Amino acid sequence: MFGTGITDMKTFLDVYPHFQFRFLLVVVLFVIFFIVVMKLREKEYIKMVTGKDSVTGLMNWEKFKENVREAISKSSEKNYALIQFDVDKFKVINDMYGIDGGNSTLRGIAGELVGLIDKNELATRFYADVFCVLISYKNDDEITGFINTLSERIKNGVAAGNVSLIFGIYKIEEENLSVDLMVDRAGFARNSVKGNSVIRYSFFDGRMLDKVLKEKNIENNMQSALDAGEFEAYLQPQYSVKNERIVSAEALVRWHDPIRKLIPPGEYIELFERNNFITKLDVYVWKQVFKIITKWIEQGREPYPVSINVSPVHFRNRTIIDEIIDVINEYNIPLKYIELEITESVLLDDLQYAIDTMEELHNLGFRIAMDDFGSGYSSLNILNKLSLDVLKLDKEFLNDASNSEKGKIVINDIITMAKHLNMEVICEGVETREQVEYLQTTECDKIQGYYYAKPMSLINFEKEYY
Ligand code: C2E
Ligand code: MG
Ligand code: MG
Repeated sequence: MFGTGITDMKTFLDVYPHFQFRFLLVVVLFVIFFIVVMKLREKEYIKMVTGKDSVTGLMNWEKFKENVREAISKSSEKNYALIQFDVDKFKVINDMYGIDGGNSTLRGIAGELVGLIDKNELATRFYADVFCVLISYKNDDEITGFINTLSERIKNGVAAGNVSLIFGIYKIEEENLSVDLMVDRAGFARNSVKGNSVIRYSFFDGRMLDKVLKEKNIENNMQSALDAGEFEAYLQPQYSVKNERIVSAEALVRWHDPIRKLIPPGEYIELFERNNFITKLDVYVWKQVFKIITKWIEQGREPYPVSINVSPVHFRNRTIIDEIIDVINEYNIPLKYIELEITESVLLDDLQYAIDTMEELHNLGFRIAMDDFGSGYSSLNILNKLSLDVLKLDKEFLNDASNSEKGKIVINDIITMAKHLNMEVICEGVETREQVEYLQTTECDKIQGYYYAKPMSLINFEKEYY
């Protein structure tokens, strides 16, 4: 009465033909899944047995740790350093040359490394584009010599041109420390020079641990601080050079921590830029500013235009324009009261994007200011390509002008040039009467600095200026 399982299935498929296709599909998917799982297990297995990293052929991380322990305990009379390094902007290499190009760069680096270390020294790829090396050394020059030679060889010898490395060094002083902690320390040192275009290496220093702990503490508290309203927008007045009256203001954030009291932006802005929290904080500050401008308008007062800082991290988001417009629409404020401060560093990432975005924002009706001009990468020949309304000169210009005739020539000529390009000029960090009087001999339009006023709470600003 009943046939074999196969005959049963055949009969079933004959009776219900539409099941044939689904059945086949399930079988094919199952086979593919099985093959993928087997391949992955094979790869893991090879890695385990040989102890090698499948991309670079260097020993894998577990093997490296084992060997580091052994090397240190075997020859404790020697000095060892654990160096961690990665490729600057490796993501760009991957984007430009694809995964294969990226992998071949990593292999190239591994090849140079192997050629450079001697037989008692060790190298591994830690993860992604991060490598670790254990070298023995007699003095610091030997370590920096190693770093420089490796950097040179990689610059000249690796396929995806212009590969630059960033190093962190931990000189192994506490031999009982776990290798993981040693690598962490080299990592702290490496992170301390990340983003620095001049210095490419750093030695671990105990103070870095304090900094990391402080930063961890800030990171643990930042969101709850924002929710609890501990961040507050302050306003610093900007004065006209001619009549020495307030004409506008800049919004600057302040953090009132219940325990640490007032924490200055210098302690957290850079961290918030690294962990992206700055995008939330920026919007929070903008909203406080827009709220007070709305209040002034509703009360029939003429609002002071306020400039708000747009972090470079925020500016890089391709959605920045929509984001600003969304917040503006919430408050319905005429754009003439808002100036956007953008720093020079945005020009370094993607110049064309920066030019286009500034132009679009400017065309929408925002005033655009270049903040801290002269503090970093200022390139004069770029100024005529940017839709800038305002140039904010970094306080260093003024310090130089106060100290030397040559400094005066530089600031004078930059102010004149900016005026020829139809920009308004603001000098930041003006602290003395002499500086004010000097600026009155130039074409500078506005002054912002402690000489007139420090940044103050919105309540104090209203008391003082309305
Ligand atoms: P910035 O935008 O260039 O702001 C000017 C800084 O100079 C402020 O420092 C201000 O207090 C300080 N300053 C003003 N007048 C004088 C003076 O006469 N002498 C001296 N020595 N300093 C003066 P602050 O408030 O500590 O802010 C530092 C930086 O943090 C700001 O530089 C800005 O880059 C960033 N920042 C502050 N608030 C925000 C914010 O809401 N969003 C973003 N993205 N960045 C912010
Ligand atoms: Mg600013
Ligand atoms: Mg500034």
